[in-house]
Amino acid sequence: MKDHEFAKLYHDTWNKAKQNIKKCYFPGCNEQPINSHILQKNGILNQIATNNHIWEYKINQFKKEPFYFDKTGINEIYSFDCFCKEHDDKLFEKIEKKQINFNDYESCLLFTLRTIYNEIWRKEINIEQYKLMMKSKYSSEINLEFLLGRIQQELLGIDDLRNNEEDIWEDYNNKTQNFVFQVRELNKIDICLSAFYNYETTLEMYNYKKLNGKDMPRISEVFINIFPYNNKTLLLMGYNKKDEKKLKPYVNTFFKESENKVQKKITNLLMFACETWVISEKLYKDKIEKIKDIFIACINHAIIINNEREFFNVNLFKDNYFNEMQKIKRHLVSIK
Ligand SMILES: [Zn+2]
Repeated sequence: MKDHEFAKLYHDTWNKAKQNIKKCYFPGCNEQPINSHILQKNGILNQIATNNHIWEYKINQFKKEPFYFDKTGINEIYSFDCFCKEHDDKLFEKIEKKQINFNDYESCLLFTLRTIYNEIWRKEINIEQYKLMMKSKYSSEINLEFLLGRIQQELLGIDDLRNNEEDIWEDYNNKTQNFVFQVRELNKIDICLSAFYNYETTLEMYNYKKLNGKDMPRISEVFINIFPYNNKTLLLMGYNKKDEKKLKPYVNTFFKESENKVQKKITNLLMFACETWVISEKLYKDKIEKIKDIFIACINHAIIINNEREFFNVNLFKDNYFNEMQKIKRHLVSIK
């Protein structure tokens, strides 16, 4: 199969997959979903846009270089088919106002909803796309084992997310509080990030399986949202109380340590743990574009050692970022 044929196959199967899994995520609803932004466009996303455009971190497992950056218009970027119009309007009314009360448990909970469904949606799209590829006329030329492995991984990921999904709805419906949320105001940085990510690293999960002969029964998912709000940046994090023992000390560091340290933590999350984030054109041009190759080398390094909690002493939001990344580059070369 030629490169352009594969690019077309990738593009077509992705679009078909998007059509095939289109349904409102509200439990029991079968209406058509509307395209909605993970974080609202007016008041949040537009605060980091230049001429209505934002830069997005993207992953395509089939590209020679899977990790890359792309500029997209604010209407399409950071959005997906989530809830039908009726449910979208009804659910998010409380947090789509000008002033959001972050001391209110339910307001924080609503931020988890689009975030968790975006994670589930991306995995479902991938699974559907891989299946379509396997059924395509090119199937004999595609590495089926690789695709089956990816499908298996995405299915496990969805299972882990489902545990939290159920608890979110229980809270919403019964006014219970299954989660712990924490909020912190930071100086404004030009980034929006929304994710549920695994606290456990791939290596830890692998070692557990080797020792116990089965997968870890529960993965501890960390919820994180970072976005500009009222000329500041808001850091909103949460975790399920079932994971408190593991996650309380970890999440607390984001709320106790200096702003410089927290910015370093965010920088590392962007490289190693979180996939759904966008940044302003200025931040991309000033910081990332120049060291894009090192940024990607860092990502690949963490994949090789299976450690998503790898930590480099770098701060994307400080002026010395370029020099710090040069040091990382030398470090990565030296350990090769
Ligand atoms: Zn619905």
